[in-house]
Amino acid sequence: MDDTIRQLQEWLASPRRIAITTHQKPDADALGSSLALYLYLQARGHKVEVVSPTDFPDFLRWLPGVQHIHIGPSDPDRAAWIFEGADLIFCLDLNWLNRVNEFEKTVRNSEARKVMIDHHMEPEGFEDLSYSDEKASSTAELIYRLIHDLGDGSLITPEIAENIYTGMMTDTGSFRYTNTSPQVHRIAAHLMELGVDSHRAYENIYSNSSPERLRFIGHCLSNCLVVLPQYKTAYIKVDREVFRQFTIRTGDTEGLVNYALGIKDVNLGVLMTTQDDMVKLSFRSRNEVPAAEFAKEFGGGGHFYAAGGKSLLSLADTEKKFLDLLEAHKSYLQLD
Ligand code: 5GP
Ligand code: MN
Repeated sequence: MDDTIRQLQEWLASPRRIAITTHQKPDADALGSSLALYLYLQARGHKVEVVSPTDFPDFLRWLPGVQHIHIGPSDPDRAAWIFEGADLIFCLDLNWLNRVNEFEKTVRNSEARKVMIDHHMEPEGFEDLSYSDEKASSTAELIYRLIHDLGDGSLITPEIAENIYTGMMTDTGSFRYTNTSPQVHRIAAHLMELGVDSHRAYENIYSNSSPERLRFIGHCLSNCLVVLPQYKTAYIKVDREVFRQFTIRTGDTEGLVNYALGIKDVNLGVLMTTQDDMVKLSFRSRNEVPAAEFAKEFGGGGHFYAAGGKSLLSLADTEKKFLDLLEAHKSYLQLD
């Protein structure tokens, strides 16, 4: 047994107070992996709470156990109490603590031992124990592996399986991105044998749009898409006003950036949106173009082919900064 697993077994040997958290605006991998770990640790007799640093999209409200999630900002005192009183804090699908927004300090200063379970590049190093693999398709895949490493494969219930399957499905783009390994398919097959209805998972996530969301996407593609063949780049720039016009909700921009990358001969796709008091940028790439290098210029990171960052400049100035970066980083863009 390797040292990480031995250490974790020791920490979990008697009942603990455990907090699980993940990144702000959690996606299906973040929530699915958190809930799978929650259900597993509860079955092992621990007292477990899940705190999300922000709200999350409605299309995730069917995940088994979702009703137990605390939305941090709805009751910040309770969230702080959970983090401060925990023996262990599991941080999932993040490797920089600023990804928990306003709870960063509380988590950092808590005396709890911190365990990071993650698959992103270039970790900050806040944790006491790391179960991390950049090559893993998803944090959900890592939860599957962790439960097996702990010798508890038999504790994977259909509910845990459903959470893991959904996280893997969405982080692999329904098993089509380059992170879809044979191992991913083997795990997915096993999860189906354990009771996952893969069709239902897909329908719940992807056949759940409001008509406004489709109209919003139509508007963005017609009016907000800029294609720069000279840089093999396309970006979608969406102003706050457009969000208001279509009454956009959390999660409604999910997948929008992929349209930019779906254009023939485009190697870098970007989505810039004004959210709260900042501009959020999503980068997607292919053909050896490093999305993460562009995200880093906006204080962010992620994976080689999928990354994100933020800008405190106006949308117009963010766009200008991005255009300057394209010129400065031409060598990343595989132009010849
Ligand atoms: P998305 O564009 O879907 O928000 O995120 C793409 C990937 O980049 C995800 O794996 C996400 O965790 C990561 N990511 C997104 N925004 C940020 C950010 O502001 N900082 C860091 N470090 N990673 C981010
Ligand atoms: Mn993930």
